[in-house]
Amino acid sequence: MSGTLDPEIVYPVQPYQAAKAYVCPGCETTIAPGTYHLVVVPEFEPDLRRHWHHGCWYKETRRRGEGA
Ligand SMILES: [Zn+2]
Repeated sequence: MSGTLDPEIVYPVQPYQAAKAYVCPGCETTIAPGTYHLVVVPEFEPDLRRHWHHGCWYKETRRRGEGA
């Protein structure tokens, strides 16, 4: 699946809201419960929401912004 240019909405998830473990697509390691992180929701495909470490998402946005 190639990168999408669909708009995405980024929500912060506070530690007290993070009740489950998720796998970050940026580094493919687990985001432990109770960790501050971000949830990224494609505007037109909200079922495809992903959870990212804050730093991994920052790097991803930079990577996308810089193009190929
Ligand atoms: Zn990560």
